[in-house]
Amino acid sequence: MAGGDKYKDKLTPEQYNICFLKGTEPPDSGKYNKHFSPGAYYCIACGQELFKSDTKYDSGTGWPAFWDTADSEAIRTVPDTSLGMTRTEVACSNCGAHLGHVFDDGPAEKTGKRYCINSLALEFRPSQTS
Ligand code: FE
Repeated sequence: MAGGDKYKDKLTPEQYNICFLKGTEPPDSGKYNKHFSPGAYYCIACGQELFKSDTKYDSGTGWPAFWDTADSEAIRTVPDTSLGMTRTEVACSNCGAHLGHVFDDGPAEKTGKRYCINSLALEFRPSQTS
């Protein structure tokens, strides 16, 4: 039983598949993979702020990558041994939406972390300029 029923009407089938059925978008398919405008990225389901544009980088893998979270409380990590691999799942701490995985091959001069996140799990909002 998926945990995201309250978000089912809000999300497209593609977004729901990622967030609550733990799908993965095809590499190089996501709209935020090569997106580097200033702003922040929010959970597509519940709207919690997850990542900031100043920690985003091009990992070359085909998915958006960040070397840190917007706030250490924004996400939770869960051990994931599916598909015969040992990985660490990243989920929204508020609604539980699956976002992607975190790996230890991120930029060494930063945190060394690579948060590999599906574009379909995110909503970008640009910085306000005033
Ligand atoms: Fe959420």
